[in-house]
Amino acid sequence: MSGIIARIDQLRPLIGNTPMVGVRYRFEGEERTVYAKCEYYNLTGSIKDRMVIQVLSEAYRKGKLKPGYTIVEATSGNAGISLASTGRYLGHKVIIVMPEWATKERVDLLRSLGAEVILTTQDDGGFQACVRKAEALEASMPDVYYPRQFENEDNTQGHFLTSGPEIQRQMQQAGKTPDAFVAAIGTGGTIMGAGAYLRTCYPGIQVHPVESLQSLVVSTGVSHGSHRVPGISDDWNPPLVDLKKLDHPLTISDGDGIIMAQLLGRKLGLGVGISSGFNFLGAVAFQNKYGGQKNAVTVFSDCSKKYLSGTLLADEPQRPEYLTGRIELLDYFAL
Ligand code: PMP
Repeated sequence: MSGIIARIDQLRPLIGNTPMVGVRYRFEGEERTVYAKCEYYNLTGSIKDRMVIQVLSEAYRKGKLKPGYTIVEATSGNAGISLASTGRYLGHKVIIVMPEWATKERVDLLRSLGAEVILTTQDDGGFQACVRKAEALEASMPDVYYPRQFENEDNTQGHFLTSGPEIQRQMQQAGKTPDAFVAAIGTGGTIMGAGAYLRTCYPGIQVHPVESLQSLVVSTGVSHGSHRVPGISDDWNPPLVDLKKLDHPLTISDGDGIIMAQLLGRKLGLGVGISSGFNFLGAVAFQNKYGGQKNAVTVFSDCSKKYLSGTLLADEPQRPEYLTGRIELLDYFAL
């Protein structure tokens, strides 16, 4: 067992310790900065590598995962890509259950990393159908490890141990005290883990989930419809999320988030994914409510490459109520 753990630990220099950027922008004449961790610098290009290395190493340590086991997971993409990469590196067969409306790049990436992909349809019942299918596979096959990323505390722990301390260190080195950490919820691992760590360093920090106006699943507990930000706000509030430990949700329109991701690429050359644009607007919404000079920190969870055939290059209509119409991006600096 210690041999496998050593092999997992060998990957650690490739995960985390991501750079942070301060993005300067003007909102109705006021110059402001939003800080964001560039999570596309991780091994497989997303924030989910932090969760996967923690979950797999703990599963081995606890004897839930053994050599020769098949790894099965329900995921809308990034967790699967990370599990496929690390799972194959460790010699496991990897089966990923995902919705058929995930972008082609995601499905192809999974297959290129040696994973078997099972697609579920809208008629099967949204993202919950992926979870049910993964559960059925676990029940019907021998020697399966199913991480259950939506309820696995090691997911949260991965962020408590890495994302949180890195944000604290980088902000301290920049001479800044974070006033808020904001992030959209997929499993909730990021916001619960990094948020909990940051609260131990800064008792007054606000920790806000960012949610889609088209879903409102965080504030109401049920999804009010489908939204267009891949990787976040599935059909329910995941078990990892304890709303009592979070401040109120900040609500952003999915179209606004898409335009923000487009602007970060087109204006600043920052090629980020859709949820990164969405998170950025969450930080802007925080500053609008609590003060433009407050230090708001968020994450750019992945890069643009998985969204090129989706919304990133499409014409997204600007609307009067959107924040993006009032934002002028100025420049960015690395921390
Ligand atoms: N953005 C993207 C692109 C993601 O893939 C995910 C994870 N599904 C998230 C944000 C949310 O991260 P978490 O699961 O830690 O809440």
